[in-house]
Amino acid sequence: MASPIPTAQLFGYPVHLVSLQQAHSVVEAAIQAGQNLQVVTLNPEMIMQGDQDLELGRILKSAGLILPDGAGVVWALKKQGNAIQRLPGIEFSEDLLKWAAEAELPVAIIGATQEALDLAQQTLQQRYPKLQIVYSHHGFFKPGPEEDAIVADCITAQPRIVLVALGVPRQEKWIDQYKERFSGTTFVGVGGSLDVWSGLTQRAPSLMRRLNLEWMYRITSEPWRIKRTYKTLPLFVVKVLLSGGKA
Ligand code: UDP
Repeated sequence: MASPIPTAQLFGYPVHLVSLQQAHSVVEAAIQAGQNLQVVTLNPEMIMQGDQDLELGRILKSAGLILPDGAGVVWALKKQGNAIQRLPGIEFSEDLLKWAAEAELPVAIIGATQEALDLAQQTLQQRYPKLQIVYSHHGFFKPGPEEDAIVADCITAQPRIVLVALGVPRQEKWIDQYKERFSGTTFVGVGGSLDVWSGLTQRAPSLMRRLNLEWMYRITSEPWRIKRTYKTLPLFVVKVLLSGGKA
């Protein structure tokens, strides 16, 4: 039996204390065992949202692999005394795609605008020529027959990895709703990663990333995020400080 994944708790939300390599091994083991796996790339906004949206909260707490993506999550975990590095979802997902290409594992991609999806697929196919994208669909579909057809076509394509870019919380709920209709498939909620791979948006410069300031770059380059971030991040910081490192 595989050993349990080292886990910390942040306000009742589990976070797995894993490196890129360890996270990758969890996915590999799930696929080999024929299990479906939901990967969450956790940030403070999601934790605060999960307290309001109980369905999201339940999903975040029960996902099979919960990565310390947000700088605020890593900061809070370090305050608890955990030695942990940030594991950005986009880097984890690209690592999976690289591996899927080498191992000839079929991949599906759902989400983003048609333009971003097409450009992202071109980029990924150029970087990993052996990558098999067996199914893709943009993310602006309606619930009901349109969504049902997308799910059915995706299942028929038999992907081993599915990247879902519908934004939080829709992507987490979508994965939770449909994952058990697949078999031996790993799902990752990838947020804006397709937009980055498409070249339509940029990640923060590497110095800002090293200083864990990617979140600041995102709110300055996408100002509509300010309202969302300022509603949640200061509250999260206060919660962590009040907990005295025992969150
Ligand atoms: N998106 C989508 N369908 C929707 C809403 C959003 O496909 O109905 C896509 C959007 O185009 C973008 C991604 O979901 O590619 C969300 O990115 P964002 O960076 O906003 O993610 P979050 O901050 O919510 O993780």
